[in-house]
Amino acid sequence: MGDTTNTTPIVESDLRAAPPDDIATVIERGQGTDLEAILDLVREAARSVTDNHGRISNITVLEQLVGVCAAEQARLTNDFRKVVEAENPVTSERGKKKRKRDVTGQIALARRRSPYHGGRAVALAGTLCEDMPHLLAALDAGDITEYRAGRIAKVAEKLPQARRAVLDERLAPRLPGLDDKTCRDEAKAIACELEPGIFLQAQEEAVAERKVSLQPADNGMSRLTALIPAAHAMAVWDCLKKIARADAVEGDPRNLDQQIADAFVRLCSGGAVGGCTAEGVPLDLAGTIVLNVVMSDRALFDGDDVAAYLMGYGTIPAEYARSLAGLVGPATRTYLRRLFTDPVTGRLHDMDQQQRYFPDSAKMFLRLRDRICRTPYCTAQIRHADHILGHAAGGPTSLVNGQGECAFCGLVKEVAGWWHRRDEDTGVVTITTPTGHTYSSPEPTPPTSSPWTSGPLDDGRPADIEREAADLHASA
Ligand SMILES: [Zn+2]
Repeated sequence: MGDTTNTTPIVESDLRAAPPDDIATVIERGQGTDLEAILDLVREAARSVTDNHGRISNITVLEQLVGVCAAEQARLTNDFRKVVEAENPVTSERGKKKRKRDVTGQIALARRRSPYHGGRAVALAGTLCEDMPHLLAALDAGDITEYRAGRIAKVAEKLPQARRAVLDERLAPRLPGLDDKTCRDEAKAIACELEPGIFLQAQEEAVAERKVSLQPADNGMSRLTALIPAAHAMAVWDCLKKIARADAVEGDPRNLDQQIADAFVRLCSGGAVGGCTAEGVPLDLAGTIVLNVVMSDRALFDGDDVAAYLMGYGTIPAEYARSLAGLVGPATRTYLRRLFTDPVTGRLHDMDQQQRYFPDSAKMFLRLRDRICRTPYCTAQIRHADHILGHAAGGPTSLVNGQGECAFCGLVKEVAGWWHRRDEDTGVVTITTPTGHTYSSPEPTPPTSSPWTSGPLDDGRPADIEREAADLHASA
């Protein structure tokens, strides 16, 4: 299959003219390794162009190919779900939830996405394959993208199943021209006609999902988002503006956006944080704030530039980490929590391995070591200190058998057929799923400086910082 010397630009007709027997044979065998042979063909053909007309043609055809792949992934996902459901017939709600987690977890890993996106992929596949054949065909033809299909499917999922086919039928002729925004608006307009009360009901459901979430943004900033009812949001916004204006002083160098942001921080921290320096270091500390920063001893004490890690955010420059470590205020103390770099040494390793639960110090260590959920592509915050080899299966309660996991992945791991094991030499955790596929999760590399050239501490024992385990060491 990989033997091609084609140097002409690939266009739609070229794909269709590909040797039907070869393609059919490959697809008939249907295994991933055979599909990989097609990838080589695609790469070779795509790169064979020599002029810009050909490049644009290829970009267009490849866009269609992305649609074809998305449609096939939807079909495979839906078939996979149906087979798992047929093989595991359960009637209880608990059993169904467990089975759904199993399917979601496997699809998420296969698609290298988070469990949330894995769940969306399963839902989209069901809607496309079971209820909306025209939408699936448009995706297959490259007339719409998977993102747009997902937005339309989300609207359709609010309708009773019988109505989804009507929406599909009526929307079909308009699909090729729709953009990211209008696809949803058009679908919603038809859905509102079909079921006028549906979006009021959806609004009630949305209120139940109100939440505040935190995402890292660029340049040492974070985005704290509140998903709340519109009326609440308006009230909070008005309130913030009033407080910001009242706080502003004569000749205040801050603009209104900065004043509102500072008022927001002060209110939400209960008055603990009053603002920030130009570099973003909190100012006017009047209470306790907890910032977990993982950095090397030399970065902290010796001015080394190896980057640090701020928990809940990500990598930060050493200079910024040092300024956070040096925060002072009327009621503020800076605590340095010393972590050993070799988990086989130190007191934490000596915990009672028979006990079922990890002590708090071990949970903190795992949180700082693993940073985010250990399942590949998940990226959720750690909620549990989890046994890699389960406690019930004889796994010890020790750091080498511990990992940080989010709530979802901790539950998925309990489903039959899922196995986690850790390579003691490398720290890599290998996850095996019920289909026998494996995924590797390497341990994050901690910030590491080159060794000390001179003793920086009064006691002249810098090596202790690396060897002592989670020993709380306070300084004013
Ligand atoms: Zn997870």
